[in-house]
Amino acid sequence: MPGTTLFPRNPTRAVRIGRTTIGGGHPIAVQSMCATKTWDVEATVRQIQDLERAGADVVRIAVDSPKDAAALPAIRARTRANLAVDLQENYRLAAQVAPHVDKIRYNPGHLHHHQKARPVRDKVAFLAEAAERRGCAIRVGVNCGSIDPEKAGRFGGDSVAGMVESALEHSALLDGLGFTRYCVSLKDSDPIKVIDANRRFAAARPDVPLHLGVTEAGLPPEGILKTRIAFEQLVSRGIGDTLRVSLTVPNHRKGEEIAAGRQILDDIARGRFRSVPENLGKSLNIISCPSCSRVENEAFVDLAEKVREVTAYARDHAITIAVMGCRVNGPGETDDADLGLWCAPTHVNLKRKSETIGTFGYDEVLSRLKSELDRLIASRQQAQGAA
Ligand code: SF4
Repeated sequence: MPGTTLFPRNPTRAVRIGRTTIGGGHPIAVQSMCATKTWDVEATVRQIQDLERAGADVVRIAVDSPKDAAALPAIRARTRANLAVDLQENYRLAAQVAPHVDKIRYNPGHLHHHQKARPVRDKVAFLAEAAERRGCAIRVGVNCGSIDPEKAGRFGGDSVAGMVESALEHSALLDGLGFTRYCVSLKDSDPIKVIDANRRFAAARPDVPLHLGVTEAGLPPEGILKTRIAFEQLVSRGIGDTLRVSLTVPNHRKGEEIAAGRQILDDIARGRFRSVPENLGKSLNIISCPSCSRVENEAFVDLAEKVREVTAYARDHAITIAVMGCRVNGPGETDDADLGLWCAPTHVNLKRKSETIGTFGYDEVLSRLKSELDRLIASRQQAQGAA
């Protein structure tokens, strides 16, 4: 049966999200996220309904402006779906959001962006109080591209340690406030780091339900394969209470995230494991975000597909190219990639690691990307020849 496994599950506590419950031995819940503008009530309700029809247990929407928050009562009135809200950077909207949703997700790394002088503990207390008063659950969503700077600095290059430390700190803060209706996620675009981070966290806090995901997994089928690698290793060890397969697909295909999640769970339950590909980490790796309400240009998914197409000739090179949909997460989340693209409304920013190469029109960026890729391959070959 989908959502159940042959393997013993970690003894996590039960956390109710609207009409579904995660943890405490409940079936693993499968989630997806709307990529519509949240203030566009018609489009958002339509996508929520599409995802429900596809079998979503929880549907997430992003809220990062008062205009988005103001749309929530109308959205709530038209759906009984279990709704989670991603607060993005604006944690202060929690009080306005909580009456209309079932779960609030905040990113510890983003709490530092607003009201810098206010202690993090106070901000978490504000979030917990808003959730408690309205019967909402919370997800502490730690992400590799936006780790709390203090944690990132403390562990140097060990991003996994920084993520785990941040998740443990916020779990302790919520516990200290007497708020236990929360789960945690530790996401990275590298499935091996996702496995490592979740195993370390689960060893320290086996009681806290975990939301699993490989962020920016990218286009299917590669994005599904990367996610499967992580989920197989975690779910078979009893780790994971809810999950999302994040795919770069157009809005009308978002239901594929649910289908992929159910298929992976079903395969694990039946003991059907795919082995880890031999060339993992040794071939071209394209990571791309699943897009959300913040995406700056509707051409984003098309751009990600074209990037895959024009770079296919480099498939045997261990090069990572990141394609991101917006200016908020784009710059930071492309820093670790060899080449990165992030979208603005009328142009695309092209980067080499953390250095910006320039901004280009949507119709000219691909040829520039290809020249940069050729240059990178040539410089690596030269370095190998000299060694
Ligand atoms: S990078 Fe921007 S558009 Fe893409 S999922 Fe993240 S916030 Fe949304």
